[in-house]
Amino acid sequence: MSKKWVYLFDEVEQAEDYVGHDWEDVRGLLGGKGANLSEMVRIGVPVPPGFTVTTEACNAYLASGDTFPESLREQMMEALRTIEETSGKKFGDKKNPLLVSCRSGGKFSMPGMMDTVLNIGLNDETCEGMIELTGDERFVYDSYRRLVQMFGHVVMGAPDEAFEEVITKARRKAGVESDTELKADDWKGITEKFKEIFRRYANRKFPTDPYEQLNLATEAVFASWNGKRAVDYRNAAHISHDLGTAVSVQTMVFGNMGDDSATGVALTRNGTLGDNRIEGDYLTNAQGEDVVAGIRMTNDISEMKAEMPEAYSEFEKYCLQLEKHYREMQDVEFTVEKGKFWMLQTRDGKRTAQAAVRIAVEMVEEGLITREEAVMRISPAQVDFFLHPQFDLEAIKAAKAKGDMLATGLNVSPGAAYGVIALEADIAETWAKEEGKQVIMVRPETRPDDVHGMLAAQGILTSRGGRTSHAALVARQFGKPAVVGVVTLEIDMVKRQISVNDRIIKEGEWISIDGTVGEVYAGKLATKVPDIKDTYLMKVLSWADEFRRLGVWTNADYPSDAIRAREYGAEGIGLCRTEHMFFESERLPFVQKMIMTDLPSERREALDALLPFQRDDFAGLFRAMDGLPVIIRLIDPPLHEFLPNHLDLMRELFDLKIRLKDVGTLEEIDLLLDQIKRKERILKRVESLHESNPMLGLRGVRLGIHIPEMTTMQVRAIIEAACMVAKEGVDVHPEVMIPLTSHVNELKVQQEALEAEAKVVMKEQNIEVDYKFGTMIEIPRAALTCDQIAEYAAFISFGTNDLTQTTFGISRDDAEAGFLIEYMELEILPENPFAVIDRDGVGVLMEMAVQKGRSVRPDLECGICGEHGGDPESIQLCHELGLTYVSCSPFRVPVARLAAAQAALRDRKK
Ligand code: PEP
Ligand code: MG
Repeated sequence: MSKKWVYLFDEVEQAEDYVGHDWEDVRGLLGGKGANLSEMVRIGVPVPPGFTVTTEACNAYLASGDTFPESLREQMMEALRTIEETSGKKFGDKKNPLLVSCRSGGKFSMPGMMDTVLNIGLNDETCEGMIELTGDERFVYDSYRRLVQMFGHVVMGAPDEAFEEVITKARRKAGVESDTELKADDWKGITEKFKEIFRRYANRKFPTDPYEQLNLATEAVFASWNGKRAVDYRNAAHISHDLGTAVSVQTMVFGNMGDDSATGVALTRNGTLGDNRIEGDYLTNAQGEDVVAGIRMTNDISEMKAEMPEAYSEFEKYCLQLEKHYREMQDVEFTVEKGKFWMLQTRDGKRTAQAAVRIAVEMVEEGLITREEAVMRISPAQVDFFLHPQFDLEAIKAAKAKGDMLATGLNVSPGAAYGVIALEADIAETWAKEEGKQVIMVRPETRPDDVHGMLAAQGILTSRGGRTSHAALVARQFGKPAVVGVVTLEIDMVKRQISVNDRIIKEGEWISIDGTVGEVYAGKLATKVPDIKDTYLMKVLSWADEFRRLGVWTNADYPSDAIRAREYGAEGIGLCRTEHMFFESERLPFVQKMIMTDLPSERREALDALLPFQRDDFAGLFRAMDGLPVIIRLIDPPLHEFLPNHLDLMRELFDLKIRLKDVGTLEEIDLLLDQIKRKERILKRVESLHESNPMLGLRGVRLGIHIPEMTTMQVRAIIEAACMVAKEGVDVHPEVMIPLTSHVNELKVQQEALEAEAKVVMKEQNIEVDYKFGTMIEIPRAALTCDQIAEYAAFISFGTNDLTQTTFGISRDDAEAGFLIEYMELEILPENPFAVIDRDGVGVLMEMAVQKGRSVRPDLECGICGEHGGDPESIQLCHELGLTYVSCSPFRVPVARLAAAQAALRDRKK
């Protein structure tokens, strides 16, 4: 017996038997669309009868040099006969003709990439029958010309323009502007002309035999699997080229057969806010395209209840059934043909982040899915949505109604932004920095020398480029909303304006872009920050907390950041960068004095002045994090960062010396000489501290060893603050972190000195606090020798910003705005290693450090506080490595909670 190539929609069990009962394999055989249609039939949803030709048939056809495999034709004929019986219509029948559609459908959705032919079965004779049935001659001829056009274009490869030209001429002749105004006779004439075009291009007459039409259409769909569009799409989406497409042949049903007919589309829940209410549009006596194309004003689906109560209650019943069956919100298409309800398609519905969260939570409460599934269904990007400004929904509606939506492009960096158009990076920077304007930088594409403009802009818009274009990469890097690849956007650098179709906007005028969805609007749309306290989000995150094993801490320097992070769910501070406090204006003079002086007494004075500031800073953090660990990192950047700029000093000195020439009195001379002396001393110190590679210079623990008084002061401030707030009744857990260790001896020397100071302070304060000393792992040598380090450190924290820099040997300050972008464009590196941890290099070092460290100290607390601590992919790795926690900026805390839970749930599945 020959192979079964064709499965009727009600033969899904046979397909399952054949592939072995894994639904993914059924989808592989019947394509996603075919499998779903069969599934609907199985659960009793009324679907217009049809059958699916398998992907295996497609592959056999393509492999054999474009010939149908043995018996495929016969199997299709037989399936057609069954459909005729079920539908009561007959292929080619003059009175009651059966019309079918022939659609492509691979295992994975490839929207619009392959071909479809509708209305198969129409010819001059069946047309008459259809006119009788529908009473709508215009519709029938419009359908007929579409068949000839689709056939000509899809099956025979005739250019679409040839057909469109005929329609344009017909419109002109009839004196009308749109296709909808053309009458039945116009379409009839157009159909005849289309047949002419067909004959010219195909060298044969348009096939009037419905069976021949079907065979040719099936072949065309098979062939479209290897069309350029489809191949390109699969390359980009990493879909295998071996899968082949299935072909679903389905009875056409019509929603335009009178007032008891209708057609519509709906989501089983609200896709914007997520409330459990069917949302959709429908039209009576209309065809599907009218609803989607927005040619006619559609009605809200709720009105169908009154207008067609029976059909509506069926529709509602099947919506519920499908949602229950798929345990997911569905996007459905339906048609009512002469009172008979048909479901044409169902698939998982698209939704906003807000809706996704609410739907997941409510489905748990309805008992439809588990908490684990709810947590897995939300993406980190959807949680992130709640933390970025978005356009107000009303503002979007109003803009769309006014025709202000200009275009769509690729949504490459999330968030909404508005600003005045700046067509060049220099202009963007000047307007933003010097005139305080908000700007959107608009360019055909961006290059490395545009980065300053991009940084100054609120958002970026380009007419060219893809997801890994320079603009996209840089925008994501710096968290700027961006829309790229807006092909309809024309940029005129001479007239200093942009245009989309005929709409012109001048440089300097307002524009708004939505990088979350890739939309561009004229004007200034109101934005709002979504509510992070959204009750549904809170709930799903509280479930995530139950599942995750990783702690989620935060990087916070000020009590206000700590309080916010705690509200977002942070369970400790993983990094407080103390040098940020040194830069504050009232403190900087003391810091500079401390650095400048050679006299121990003067240094002591400066440090004594700084200590109370630091103590207050730390006390504030401890109070905010009552009961939770607080890691305070000792000063890290090179000293010269705190000193005046070398060039400025030279200029000032020069000025002073010039002035010396003009002053008259001895007193004035003395004064100036004194100033010059002081400046020269500062200049000398700046020069002596100058380093060619400051990031690899006197920073971190090296600095602590070089000027021990400074870190000693910091530890004193930490422990004094801890004792002070402990006396207030706060539960305090300071952890002192020593940065940039590379050799254990550095840690040993520094830690012993500092711990001694901690003990002195506690003695003075007459109270003991629970403290720890530990270090950052930021240099490969520290990772490689972590067993030695763990002899001293009670905790380690991976500073993956520096660890990435030192492992790759590339500068974190320069590379990201420079050659790294090129590396990613050329796909030399798969990801930016400063955004996502490089598993094979940095990741292996981390693994080694954790293992070695814990071999010496099994309870070694291991965390991460580099930027990667808020990146979902990196969090997955941290989970796998068994870290104690990840620490990230307060705004990433909710994202990290979800990502950590997802990592744990993936682990459970293994
Ligand atoms: C790091 O290097 O990852 C880190 C957190 O320290 P910083 O970014 O302050 O150098
Ligand atoms: Mg660092």
